[in-house]
Amino acid sequence: MNKPLDLAGLGIGPFNLSIAALLREVPQLHTAFFDRKPQFNWHPGMMLPGVRLQTSYLKDLVTGVAPWSPNSFLNYLVQKGRFYAFMNADLPAVSRAEFADYMAWVADGLGNLHFGRNIQYVDFDGDLFHIHFREETEPVRARNLCLGTGKTPFIPQSCRPWRGDDCFHNMELTLRQPDVAGQRVTVVGGGQSGAEVVLSLLQGDWGRPESIHWLSRRPNFEPLDETPFTNEYFTPGYVDTFHQLPEAQRLTLVENQKLASDGISPDTLEALYQRLYEHRISGGESPRVVLQPHRSLQALAGPAPFQLDIHNALNGERTSSTADRVILCTGFESRLPDYLSAALRQRLETDDHGHLRLASDFQAQWDGPPGRHLYAVNAGRHSHGIADPQMSLMCWRSARIINHLAGETLFPVTGNVGLVDWNGDDPRVATGDDRQSLLALLKSDF
Ligand SMILES: Cc1cc2nc3c(=O)[nH]c(=O)nc-3n(C[C@H](O)[C@H](O)[C@H](O)COP(=O)(O)OP(=O)(O)OC[C@H]3O[C@@H](n4cnc5c(N)ncnc54)[C@H](O)[C@@H]3O)c2cc1C
Repeated sequence: MNKPLDLAGLGIGPFNLSIAALLREVPQLHTAFFDRKPQFNWHPGMMLPGVRLQTSYLKDLVTGVAPWSPNSFLNYLVQKGRFYAFMNADLPAVSRAEFADYMAWVADGLGNLHFGRNIQYVDFDGDLFHIHFREETEPVRARNLCLGTGKTPFIPQSCRPWRGDDCFHNMELTLRQPDVAGQRVTVVGGGQSGAEVVLSLLQGDWGRPESIHWLSRRPNFEPLDETPFTNEYFTPGYVDTFHQLPEAQRLTLVENQKLASDGISPDTLEALYQRLYEHRISGGESPRVVLQPHRSLQALAGPAPFQLDIHNALNGERTSSTADRVILCTGFESRLPDYLSAALRQRLETDDHGHLRLASDFQAQWDGPPGRHLYAVNAGRHSHGIADPQMSLMCWRSARIINHLAGETLFPVTGNVGLVDWNGDDPRVATGDDRQSLLALLKSDF
């Protein structure tokens, strides 16, 4: 790998994998991708029994821009001999396990992925990026980078001293395999992960707890809005319109659109409610289940058994409770990767919140020389909207990045538009001028 790469992909989650999968069709670009895991493995800590994708399987790594690609989910089904069985099963959604297996199958077929490479630091020598690994391997040089090392699980400040087997983020759940039999378990966070963890506890996947206490800051256990007009936020046209808005307006919109990306799947809510109802019929004693929306964890005193200080936003009261185990479903935070050297960080433009300023083609704004780009995936919720951390538009974003890198339109990125005129540029709408001339025409007839 002595020859400098045209593109080095840092991290091989679904988003950089999508870029790598499309690059298979662009042999003229010399590229390589690196990940610290020993092989592709999608969020293994949250592979709970029965969990499903929140996205259509057609929104896979490639189909939206290259339906002819051999790396599609449909080709995976055909190659695995499951196409007809899959259609007959008529599943409400693909399981996360199957989609993870699909992505691992794609990864297996690509020659430019390098696993077992933990990126230690990345620097720029004025002409090339240098990627150094913790392993004793040669540093890699590249003209362009794509940052794809994902987000960091968010742990509230007061929980940090107690991180371990008794208090952990949900992303570690299936890796830790906790035995919660007879324990008082508190789940903090009312999004999809919180719901999946509570359902899993109710099913007794980790033993039968003495109690399950679910806290959510949200006013209720709120559904994901998957209705068609909301799904317009997950179209290229909307993302481009959003990107052009002033920063303050973008922040407000993202906040207002929270439930379009962070709500709980209606299927999960239904399964949860039905399970709770059956539990009630059977006496509801073991485990004791307490569901508390409008509650936020103020502080956690440990070690286990933990004392939780909880604020009730409905009546302003503070209460306390005790837990033997705390599972934090507290989401993720976006921050600049630690491996970027201080000198490189200083050259990157960030907004007041420390977010990278990303151009429409997902290049970070910086003062580097022409022809040296630093792209970033899953880093643009503030700039590209709520679709950015989701898979819905991942292959479209990959296409935008590859087209920009190649300097030509190798994949179609325009033309697949929604039904809403977000930008005021729908040619079917009469403009003010058109209306005036129509009026003049009508008047002249009378
Ligand atoms: C449980 C869960 C379920 C989800 N389900 C859906 C869904 O159904 N639909 C949807 O649209 N979105 C879903 N998402 C959101 C999103 O699609 C996923 O989080 C997706 O995995 C993001 O992909 P990514 O490539 O940005 O990051 P990640 O998947 O986090 O991958 C980042 C990769 O970078 C590697 N890495 C990190 N640091 C280094 C380093 N220093 N050196 C080398 N490698 C490194 C990691 O090992 C990892 O493989 C889900 C998210 C979660 C957490």
